[in-house]
Amino acid sequence: MIRQGMLLVVSGPSGAGKGTLCKALMGKYQEVRYSISATTRPPRTGERDGEDYFFKSREEFEVMIAQEELLEWAPVHDNYYGTPRLPVMEALAGGNDIILEIDVQGALQVKEKFPDAVFIYILPPSMKELEQRLINRGTDSPEIIAKRMKNAVGELAYVNRYDYVIINDSMDAAAVKLEAVILAERCRPKRVDYRVD
Ligand code: 5GP
Repeated sequence: MIRQGMLLVVSGPSGAGKGTLCKALMGKYQEVRYSISATTRPPRTGERDGEDYFFKSREEFEVMIAQEELLEWAPVHDNYYGTPRLPVMEALAGGNDIILEIDVQGALQVKEKFPDAVFIYILPPSMKELEQRLINRGTDSPEIIAKRMKNAVGELAYVNRYDYVIINDSMDAAAVKLEAVILAERCRPKRVDYRVD
């Protein structure tokens, strides 16, 4: 019997380093899939359609909602973001773990539908440090940074709905913690075929 894959939900403010941590994990565990989200946000320099996101117009996104193609979706910083359902269902059925890098609103929707999913929140060491990282990243205007900071503070109220919190003060240490969470979760009895023939 094929083991059902594990659904991993990773949230945290933009600039907390979730993307880099997830990439490091997938570099080491190549069977772990990554869910590419759909968004109405315009691509940033260097971002590619179908790799970073599926970039959609508002109308296209609304068709995806109406046709129930999305597992969850939410408005984030004035744009829509959502998880295409099919690739997630296929990964899980094929026994592959899959990461959803989504915001708190989306994570709560996933929790309703998949109570067995593993919820991980990545935090920066401080709000000051977060702001500095967003400024240094140089991809967003001061207004957008202010919006992202406000959002980050608002999301903190939901951290206790997650199973794990990882503070990303050092990328290496945080990567080890993320790996430890995945490995421990894979050892839960519900995920191990422990019958002895
Ligand atoms: P960014 O615009 O910086 O790529 O992402 C902004 C926020 O949108 C991040 O907090 C990210 O986690 C969230 N996000 C990305 N994809 C999805 C998605 O498919 N669903 C939801 N609900 N949030 C998403």
